[in-house]
Amino acid sequence: MNKKEIREKFSAEPQRYYNVNLFEDQGFERKSCNICNRFFWTLDSEKGKCPDHSDDTYSFIGDPPTAKRFDYTQAWKEVESFFVKNNHTSINRYPVVCRWRDDLYFTIASIVDFQRVMGSKVVFEFPANPLVVPQTCLRFKDLENVGVTGRHFSSFCMIGQHSIPNENGYWKDECVNLDFNLLTQQFGIAKKEITFVEDVWEGGGSFGSSLEYFVRGLELGNAVFTEFQGDLSNYKTLDQRIIDMGAGLERFAWITMGTPTAYDCCFGPITEKLIQNAGIDANSSVLVPYFTEIARNLELYDDLSQVRKNTIKSTGLSDEQISRIITPLEGIYLIIDHIRTLIFAISDGALPSNVGGGYNLRIMLRRVISTMDRLKLKFDLDEIIDIQIDYLKNTYPELEKTRQDVKEIISIETGRYDSSKQRMQKIVSKLDQKPSVEDLIRLYESDGVTPEYLKEMKVISEIPSTFYGKLADLHQSKKQREQESFPLEGIPDTELLFYGDDPREFDAKVLKSFENFVVLDRTAFYARGGGQEPDHGKIGDCDIIDITKHGNIVVHKIKGDMPKDGEMISCVVDAKRRDGITKNHTSTHIINTSARSVLGSWVWQHSAFKEEDHARLDITHHSALTDNDVKKIEHLANSIVEKSIPVKIENFDRGTAEQKYGFRIYQGGVVPVKSVRIVSIGDLDIEACGGTHVANTSDVEEIKITRTKRIQDGVVRIEFVSGESAKEFVRKRQQDSESKEREGKLKEQEKEKRVERRQLAKERIPIIAKSLSECKEGVSTIEDIIIVSTESGKANFCYSTSNDYDDVFHIGLGEALCKADPRLVYCGLFEDGEKIRVIVHAGDDISKEKSAGEIVRNVSQILGGSGGGSSKFAQGGGTDKSKKEDAIKNVKIMVLE
Ligand SMILES: [Zn+2]
Ligand SMILES: [Zn+2]
Repeated sequence: MNKKEIREKFSAEPQRYYNVNLFEDQGFERKSCNICNRFFWTLDSEKGKCPDHSDDTYSFIGDPPTAKRFDYTQAWKEVESFFVKNNHTSINRYPVVCRWRDDLYFTIASIVDFQRVMGSKVVFEFPANPLVVPQTCLRFKDLENVGVTGRHFSSFCMIGQHSIPNENGYWKDECVNLDFNLLTQQFGIAKKEITFVEDVWEGGGSFGSSLEYFVRGLELGNAVFTEFQGDLSNYKTLDQRIIDMGAGLERFAWITMGTPTAYDCCFGPITEKLIQNAGIDANSSVLVPYFTEIARNLELYDDLSQVRKNTIKSTGLSDEQISRIITPLEGIYLIIDHIRTLIFAISDGALPSNVGGGYNLRIMLRRVISTMDRLKLKFDLDEIIDIQIDYLKNTYPELEKTRQDVKEIISIETGRYDSSKQRMQKIVSKLDQKPSVEDLIRLYESDGVTPEYLKEMKVISEIPSTFYGKLADLHQSKKQREQESFPLEGIPDTELLFYGDDPREFDAKVLKSFENFVVLDRTAFYARGGGQEPDHGKIGDCDIIDITKHGNIVVHKIKGDMPKDGEMISCVVDAKRRDGITKNHTSTHIINTSARSVLGSWVWQHSAFKEEDHARLDITHHSALTDNDVKKIEHLANSIVEKSIPVKIENFDRGTAEQKYGFRIYQGGVVPVKSVRIVSIGDLDIEACGGTHVANTSDVEEIKITRTKRIQDGVVRIEFVSGESAKEFVRKRQQDSESKEREGKLKEQEKEKRVERRQLAKERIPIIAKSLSECKEGVSTIEDIIIVSTESGKANFCYSTSNDYDDVFHIGLGEALCKADPRLVYCGLFEDGEKIRVIVHAGDDISKEKSAGEIVRNVSQILGGSGGGSSKFAQGGGTDKSKKEDAIKNVKIMVLE
């Protein structure tokens, strides 16, 4: 059965599904639309058509049906005071980032606040009954409508009226009564103006009949009587029926104000300010007919550009009026709407990025910037944020706290977009044909090129209406993880000793032993979970390899002879490993809160991993961490350690914990159980966490951040160690720096030695040169320099094999001597550490007969190495020091014979 069929089925039994006391009491008539046949209830005997097809559709624009005027802020005050007067609890909005559901990034309806997924079932948890909530909801499917249609927003306030029919709450009759009285008594709308339309609403695995209520064609709310679960063809009654009335606050304001668009009365003073700033005539008489016609046409055509075209045609607006008034107004509405959504999302901890829900936020900011560029509007985003928060805080005072954070994130993200424009320009210039919707998605996903940018660059004239829908589908929900299934039917829950006395040794009974897995009746072994690695240890003689939790049953994977079912067995936990893991786990919480205080409110745990001797925490942050960030985080973390703060563990009912501590508790993700374990470090860090923790922060001893890295857009990894591992890390770093210091000292000494030698060479070279010139034929020695003087016509030879001289000395002396005697060959042969080196100079004349290069090549070979150079200067060497004598003998032969 589809939705239409089930509605027809319900409408065939109006007494059962739709009739309420109010209709009897007030004398409502049930009618069928003479165009679409849908059933509706009205007090207006002349009405023959449903609100979608009625003649008075959108006639409130320019002519509101109420005496009083309420803007967005005032409209909520009216709604809230009405419901509070009627025994409802008014609760604060829930975050727009849906931390309590794995399958949603953002809160899309007020009922989502109270839905908790447990296994495959959705259960409802209400903090009060009955209640009313001004829930900000984010929806990205209709982005191309925003700013254009007069009534589509990327975020809006859903007035949530919820009730469980029991001794405190109510069912249909009371619900519709209240809604009718809200419209007539509180808002002063005439009874005849209100039409109820029969419908069905389904979502989150449950559904029920519903009555949508309209005034002059504008749907203000939908009261859903949720009473079935399953799909539309195969369903059964819910254990707990629920009233799920959702109404659009923006529409309540709009109907009383009758402004051309809902945007004009819902954003506060910013709208008028920007309109003035852009120099648009906002009082133009064309606005009311234009936007009334847009609203009506929207029902008639699927394609938005068609709606716009028809509207322009039927209202007779000139191109000039469109480009001077309508187009810039649409841009301004879009900019304000998108910034408002970003304010809520960033305040609640979401960051623009290229992954997950962050995608939608990035595209919104890029739309804002492109729109400003395209329309040549120069607005100050900080100012828009300020004026909007000033207005919104009347309803949502919490936004004041994150004012600066919102500005910071938007300014960083704006800078990034500006710097990526050049790259986008290049990509766009290579496009050779008009891109399809698939191309547009690929261009955005892989290159960050938005369709707005393409429109600005005139590559496309319109953004296809399916683009944002498709993009939102791709990034709407998170993927569910699959888990291995085990044959565990009939096995009772495992008693978890690590939440109690937490013994390191215990006895347990084997409930089931299969393949290489074993299930015990009780266990002190911690199962892998929440990023904490499993314990090691022994079950009987078997070593534990892995431990996983399936529902409430712990399954141990072991190695060795498998124990038998029913056997009593003694178990030992690897205490040292557990101790290390536990310290690292508490440190994760400490670093998380420290990073948040140092960096900003947008820091959330993205994921974590805790092993015995190392751990890591991935946090949401816009940029890589600087050395200074790391230093500050580490310092703050260690000051929390030093303060010796007790780590408290308490169990709460999930709803109570959420109300008491807020949604910050879900750092580690969704908690799929009714009772949550709250781990708190004073009031610095309060998280729902199932892991093992030290009793006091001082037990952590010390925390050292070993490395940080930006692992994806918007996520930074912090690697760290704590306890003994931190001390070991510090010791090692100390040693490293000491050995570095030693190395440095050696280098320093070496340098000094070279300076000394250079000085020595300078002083000695003239002395030796002088001796040489005085030397008659024969052999003489001066300071280990052997001088061989020959008869004229033969080579003069001078050499040294002393290790007291180095390369600097030999090069200097050889050069000087050969200059003085062009028939001289000079050779220095000396040991240098592990090596033995040779340096040869040949004077200008002798070099033609005796090449320095040749001598060095020959000698180096003898020394087991290599070398070379020119005929006048060469150097080389080897490692075989035992060949030193052979080597010099060879040089003599080559020079003198
Ligand atoms: Zn109709
Ligand atoms: Zn934890």
